[in-house]
Amino acid sequence: MKMRLKAVSFIVLVHLLLISLASGESRHELNFPDILGYKTLKCDFHMHTVFSDGLVWPTVRVDEAWRDGLDVISITDHIEYHPHKQDIPTNHNRPYELVAAKAKEKNILLIKGAEITRDTPPGHFNAIFVTDIPALDTKDFNDAIRIAWEQGGFVFWNHPGWKPEAKGWLDIHTKLYENKWLRGIEVVNGNTYYPEAHQWCLEKNLTMLGNSDIHDPITGYEIYEDPELTHRPVTLVFAKEKTAEALKEAMLDGRTAIWHKNQLIGREKYLDAIFRASVKVSNPYYRQKDTIWCEIKNNSCMDIQMEKAGTERAEKLVLPANSTMLLKTKAKGEAGEVKLSYVVKNFLIAPDKGLPVELIIPLQ
Ligand SMILES: [Zn+2]
Ligand SMILES: [Zn+2]
Repeated sequence: MKMRLKAVSFIVLVHLLLISLASGESRHELNFPDILGYKTLKCDFHMHTVFSDGLVWPTVRVDEAWRDGLDVISITDHIEYHPHKQDIPTNHNRPYELVAAKAKEKNILLIKGAEITRDTPPGHFNAIFVTDIPALDTKDFNDAIRIAWEQGGFVFWNHPGWKPEAKGWLDIHTKLYENKWLRGIEVVNGNTYYPEAHQWCLEKNLTMLGNSDIHDPITGYEIYEDPELTHRPVTLVFAKEKTAEALKEAMLDGRTAIWHKNQLIGREKYLDAIFRASVKVSNPYYRQKDTIWCEIKNNSCMDIQMEKAGTERAEKLVLPANSTMLLKTKAKGEAGEVKLSYVVKNFLIAPDKGLPVELIIPLQ
């Protein structure tokens, strides 16, 4: 009898262990704050599988996205390029179908997409939020883009500086833009930042995207062979909620920013909001004559690199990710507040232009 009880409790224990082991994988959280009443969704809208020229089965992309702290992905295999077709049948809707259930289990929002792949120019374009990918397999390039748009798709221009000989905004891009078929551009693709694309997005009110365009399995970021790339490029989308409808509304409204090589790239409004929600300055906790000490916290997952504005020798202040620093400064007045002006060097509001900010220390 005693033995039997022991056996039962052993079975219960093994059972409990199995349950906890089933969810034993861990996720690397990306701490970017929610801003301006929106939820900050971490997204990658460009990746490949064996269904085009990628080297992984589609479900692997969901596991990687979850581990990398993403909320949203789109698998965007090439429509016109299938080097594995001897082994894998050409079936444009199949990657999405294979992945849909697993994405639900891992709470990853999966957006149906594909890469329209034509010679440069016009180049490569991703169509996401589309419903029927085979319908985009057309002879004429403009037809493919128009059909994507008619399906409710969001079309963006991929890696715009990929082929230097055809670099630049051409008439074909103007036509797509004027028809409102083209809604965004990859300002970042893989390990490359395109400053001219950043400028086009600002001038033409297009949505900025930064995506991995990953083809290999993600085992680490050494696959990019770039020591500066220590994390996956991510598009932050500021959406009302985590649904496909809310995501699309946010993207059509241009509410995005890009995290790339420990830089944040985007419009001033959103970068400023991220900074304010991430960096908190305390009241002074100690004062000696006109010197005060206070705490400055960075709650984001980025190291924030600041330089004092308007000084001859650029005074640097680096706030490491998820950390608190002590700040010592002069407070000349007795009342009010101390304002310190900085430029955040790794928050790019335009090519080569950091975000101006003020640290405000309240004085009791
Ligand atoms: Zn491409
Ligand atoms: Zn691609």
